[in-house]
Amino acid sequence: MALEKYRQKRDFTKSPEPAGDKPRKSPAGRKPRFFCVQKHLASHLHYDFRLEHNGVLLSWAVPKGPAIDPTIKRLAMHVEDHPVEYGEFEGVIPSGYGAGIVMLWDRGTWTPEVDDVDAALAKGDLKMTLDGYKLKGSWVLVRTRGWGSREGKADDGRSWLLIKHKDDWAGPIDIAEFAPLSVKSGGDFAEILSADNPDIWRSNRPAEGGETGKMFESIVKRALSMKAASSTPAKAKGQRPKGKGQRTKGKGQTSRKPGAGSRKAAGGRKPRA
Ligand code: MN
Repeated sequence: MALEKYRQKRDFTKSPEPAGDKPRKSPAGRKPRFFCVQKHLASHLHYDFRLEHNGVLLSWAVPKGPAIDPTIKRLAMHVEDHPVEYGEFEGVIPSGYGAGIVMLWDRGTWTPEVDDVDAALAKGDLKMTLDGYKLKGSWVLVRTRGWGSREGKADDGRSWLLIKHKDDWAGPIDIAEFAPLSVKSGGDFAEILSADNPDIWRSNRPAEGGETGKMFESIVKRALSMKAASSTPAKAKGQRPKGKGQRTKGKGQTSRKPGAGSRKAAGGRKPRA
């Protein structure tokens, strides 16, 4: 029932997203249950904040992502419930609703700081403790007046604010910038894309034109070149160096002659500072 909207929006023969047909029981009361944040590069970059409750993931789209600075209130638009299995999803949605790349940016458990979550949601004030890799401590979601309500439009009640409470886990750090990568694969969007199938992006690019189109284009290009690089036979298999430093590895490799790589192959790789 709660997942009708979720299913209506998707064609599961074309989307790798889970259909959510496994019934699931969630803990009640002040018990920990699943939470995650998915960084979603779609028509707009946003972060999907999801809390398991009553067998589904209650979901809010947070355009700027969660902030661990208690003075920053982040707009969170309440969206349709998602299946609990969705909380582990990371990958490429090639077309249709939500087309783009989904990164599992954080996951862990959340514990309500109230006895009755439904009552807290109805009231528009849900206090909770998060225990993720990146987000921890006490938080609150509070319903606010929707944008545009001043112009006489009825407030649809979808606008909430996600706010960090002051505690040991709060601080003046931009957590989205400080910890931008996946907690599932360790990768960025391009790596998630290249792990999937970048070819589909050549013929069937989900977003066209504008800033987003340009962003997709550069991501696709990067993913394709990464794919090409990783399929070069000379490249060692297995562990790939992480971070920005990996780019410097290719410098000075100007020849493709057989002997060119032998110095490196002999184990001359310098340890990184
Ligand atoms: Mn989304």
